[in-house]
Amino acid sequence: MNNTDIQLDITKTKQSKIDQVDFSNLKFGKVNADHMMYCDYIDGKWQTPKIVPYGPMEFEPSAKVFHYGQAVFEGMKAFKDENEQVWLFRPEQNFERINKSSKRMAIPEFPKDYFFESLKTLLELDKDWVKKGEGNSLYLRPFVIATENGVSASESDRYRFMIITCPAQAYYNKPIKVIFAQEYSRAADGGVGFAKAAGNYGAQFYPTKLAKAKGLDQIIWTDASSHEYLEEAGTMNIFFRVGDKLLTSPTNDRILDGVTRKSIIQLAKDNGVEVVVEKVSVKEIVNAAKNGELKEIFGAGTAATVVSVDGFEYDGTYYDLPTVDEPYGTFFKKALQDIQYNKVEDPHGWTMKAF
Ligand SMILES: *Cc1c(COP(=O)(O)O)cnc(C)c1O
Repeated sequence: MNNTDIQLDITKTKQSKIDQVDFSNLKFGKVNADHMMYCDYIDGKWQTPKIVPYGPMEFEPSAKVFHYGQAVFEGMKAFKDENEQVWLFRPEQNFERINKSSKRMAIPEFPKDYFFESLKTLLELDKDWVKKGEGNSLYLRPFVIATENGVSASESDRYRFMIITCPAQAYYNKPIKVIFAQEYSRAADGGVGFAKAAGNYGAQFYPTKLAKAKGLDQIIWTDASSHEYLEEAGTMNIFFRVGDKLLTSPTNDRILDGVTRKSIIQLAKDNGVEVVVEKVSVKEIVNAAKNGELKEIFGAGTAATVVSVDGFEYDGTYYDLPTVDEPYGTFFKKALQDIQYNKVEDPHGWTMKAF
């Protein structure tokens, strides 16, 4: 990582909490490593980033984030290889994306050197929280919130950028059941679907709760105007294998441009799998399920890497997916993880030493 003359303001924890954590029994996102970073935007300028022990913060109830949801976030992971080296996976993509999200939400962009210097320092301090072994990682959650006090509905003039981290094991351990959205929508044309804007996720909880009450795990969102095209899973992009072809929707202003998605598209090309990036219609997938050509559906995102779908509901009918030999989902998950854990060559230069 490029070193700079940035001085962070660092307060180390007096007592690590690491001995209290059962790393073989982690609930995703529930445990935080010892340190966090925060950086305030005041008087038109990002101030010195501070690294402090993880813990509560004080905000006034009138802070704008609580009223208008002016907030964005990122999700990335650090991995440890067999030689104790810690790696990041395509972190510049997350850096660019948080600023793209921020821009759409009228939040000032964060400086690149602050971002990388903070990550590097946090990872070096908390390197023992990054565990070796398949599925283990330290999940990194950069986010920005509007901190100006006062409930007038306009953009804030103060913000806080933060990075918290959580040790993680494999996210989903079993295949999921999904439903294709026919009533609710996640995002609309001209909206904020392409941004990791906090409100996008809150708005999914109610429809997802309804789906869960029916025994389904997640919703595959369709385009808001016709519900005829399959777009994404709301925290993951989605791939369909029809015959031996891999299909996925192109990104647009309703779909998050996932790093995992674009990496899988590249790995498919590297491995001679035909990948078709075109609108995927509900009709073609339902027909393919009926005639046996639909072999797999899988989601792709940082938290889960790849999660396979074992069936979907559409229009009141549940379609089981077949069990296939050598699923693409398993292949791409392993191919990605082999690069992330520095087990194989990294021909595209995706990994970056954390410190
Ligand atoms: C984060 C996210 C994804 C996956 O993106 P990755 O960069 O692969 O983690 C997909 N869809 C939505 C809505 C997301 O928020």
